[in-house]
Amino acid sequence: MISNRTVALVGRPNVGKSRLFNRLLGKRVAIVHDMPGVTRDLAMAVVDEDFLIMDTGGIGIKPEMTPAAIHEATEEQVELAIQAANLVLFVVEGPEGVTPVDLDVADMLRRSGKEVLTVVNKIDRQSGALNLAEFHRMGFRDVLAVSAEHGQGSRELFDAITEFLGPKPEAPEVDEDRRINICLCGRPNVGKSSLGNALIRAPRLIVSDIAGTTRDAIEHELDYTAKTGEEWKFRLIDTAGMKPNRKLGSSLDYFSNLRSSGAIERADVAFLILDALSGVAKHDKKIAGEIADAGVGLVVVVNKWDLALDSFRQSKVDGFTSEKEFRKAFIDAIREELFFLPNSPIIFTSALTGFQVDEILKSAVMVDTTLGMELPTAQVNKVLGDMLERQKPKIVGGRRFKVYYGLQVAQRPFKIRLFCNREEKLEDSYLRYLENGFHKNFRLDGCPVKFDLRGKS
Ligand code: GDP
Repeated sequence: MISNRTVALVGRPNVGKSRLFNRLLGKRVAIVHDMPGVTRDLAMAVVDEDFLIMDTGGIGIKPEMTPAAIHEATEEQVELAIQAANLVLFVVEGPEGVTPVDLDVADMLRRSGKEVLTVVNKIDRQSGALNLAEFHRMGFRDVLAVSAEHGQGSRELFDAITEFLGPKPEAPEVDEDRRINICLCGRPNVGKSSLGNALIRAPRLIVSDIAGTTRDAIEHELDYTAKTGEEWKFRLIDTAGMKPNRKLGSSLDYFSNLRSSGAIERADVAFLILDALSGVAKHDKKIAGEIADAGVGLVVVVNKWDLALDSFRQSKVDGFTSEKEFRKAFIDAIREELFFLPNSPIIFTSALTGFQVDEILKSAVMVDTTLGMELPTAQVNKVLGDMLERQKPKIVGGRRFKVYYGLQVAQRPFKIRLFCNREEKLEDSYLRYLENGFHKNFRLDGCPVKFDLRGKS
């Protein structure tokens, strides 16, 4: 992932950062992706599909600024570079030598402990001999002399960058034997064991049981041949043994078992099983919340659909003219009650008749594949930019808050790091708004998206 391969250019105004940025991209233009940041002040590009290079020079800069304002803007740039970059290119000027602002920037960089290359620019304008010693004295990893205007030293600089970053990481090999861990969760009596059994008995399925790794959960390995001929491998984490004490009528021990067994956490995709006859109950919400918190894929299964349809057909359910409408009403109610779900697919099954039990496996494959996606950085920023523009987050105290750009930093679950001018806690409703935007734009149905804000605290 590109997220840990970021190079940032910092330095006071007019040292030639943006010239150097363009020089470093140079002939690579064809393979450089045009990268809109969330703010226009930030120039970014992905080089060779390998690393991200950014010029922070435009941030906070306005025409005719006072020296104090320039100083503040420079600090803001350096702060972002420190938060975001693995390697900082600290750009200074040969002919002018080390200035007081340079020393301040150097100080901030030194305190951050970041790796820094000092880049001495404009050596073409150097009249006398270049004295690199004063630049070395600032104490960073290395000093390179360049002319962004004419190109001297840019090859060496590029090599120094790629040497620092090391070789581009290989894409991880696809593990043919990988199994998708699935877990059926739900209140007692919604049909978890029946669905588990229906799955195990499904045609085109080979099952082998493994002894439970925990006291209560049994695992079954399921090898399934899809109609397309594809082989799908699952591990069903069976929580059926976790029955509550029915006499006491308590669901509490089921919940504590579900949690302590780590069954949900071990799942790639967890299924929230609902009973079609009772709709979404209080405990369903609680279980849904636990699955959502665990950050795993989530699919909703409305089971006992045969019974619901019987009622419908016997006209016991008023107000619906078609089966489709009846189903739609279910979907709407679930979306409303479980509004915090990650836009989860909703499937309708009957463990009794076997109706659509296969859909459980199909949706597991679909959600699991999505969970492994890499979201292209340019698109991430496009989506973020649009969303932030359409609706600004509410910020306590009304202080200035800016998001510079975002980057996917993890899969399973998706984690998007947002680089900001300061660390904020966004409201849950706003995070949901952003999450919904990601779901719509990248089609991440059933996959949670977490946001991690980085900035000056
Ligand atoms: P669990 O506690 O969630 O594991 O629920 P069970 O699988 O033990 O099912 C509870 C009851 O509901 C049993 O009597 C099942 O036979 C019945 N049941 C489960 N799924 C269905 C279904 O799809 N349709 C019908 N009609 N009954 C079901």
